[in-house]
Amino acid sequence: MNLILLGAPGAGKGTQAQYLIDTYKIPQISTGDMLREAIKNQTAIGMEAKSFMDRGELVPDVVILEIIRERLLQDDCKNGYILDGFPRTIAQAEGLAEMLEALNATIDKVILFEVSNDVLIERLTGRRVCGNCGASFHTVFNKPGKEGICDRCGSALIQRKDDNLETATNRLSVYENQTAPLIHFYEKAGKLVKLDGDQAITLLQKQLSHILGA
Ligand code: ADP
Ligand code: AMP
Repeated sequence: MNLILLGAPGAGKGTQAQYLIDTYKIPQISTGDMLREAIKNQTAIGMEAKSFMDRGELVPDVVILEIIRERLLQDDCKNGYILDGFPRTIAQAEGLAEMLEALNATIDKVILFEVSNDVLIERLTGRRVCGNCGASFHTVFNKPGKEGICDRCGSALIQRKDDNLETATNRLSVYENQTAPLIHFYEKAGKLVKLDGDQAITLLQKQLSHILGA
């Protein structure tokens, strides 16, 4: 099962990806997580990506397509994967389509999480993520069992540098301008499933199970 999770920053893609990993035993491929790891390890890609990420702009398509190309060839992708935060431009979607064609594979479904901008801003500014496993929590909407500690792995929770009001606002307009055209792209391809991302986390999990046939 090859899935794409589509939606604005803060729409809940990472939160639902956690559920899908546990349920379907397929990996999450988050380009944002991969880039943050590259920054932490001070690789050439990390150095190139950092200033774009700090401003809330998109990292150039060639960089992103290169990291995806390598990732999809890894062994754990054999039975499927969840693309989270990729593709983010039409050029990336076209690049992905070419890669999949070469691998004789396809995307099964594109799940779109629709959430209004004022809710997205509340979610992004209150988000706390695990510095170790990347799991996502919220100071109000999705509190960890113990304040500041990850429920999954017990590591400390941190606030992402780009989750401040100014950068988050810019990320939402980048989404509208550069990523939202993918909605039509995948609708035309007959792959898009729209979900009301404003619902409770557990309700969305049930809907995903129904759509994907758990
Ligand atoms: P994305 O990966 O799409 O950027 P996340 O999954 O990290 O978004 O979610 C953004 C924030 O909103 C996190 O703090 C998360 O805990 C919270 N959140 C996710 N889904 C919901 C939901 N359905 N209702 C309320 N808060 C949510
Ligand atoms: P995310 O973790 O998905 O919120 O992504 C954080 C940041 O990483 C984004 O604001 C971009 O700067 C960068 N990024 C992640 N994925 C992509 C992508 N597919 N294309 C371009 N930039 C990306």
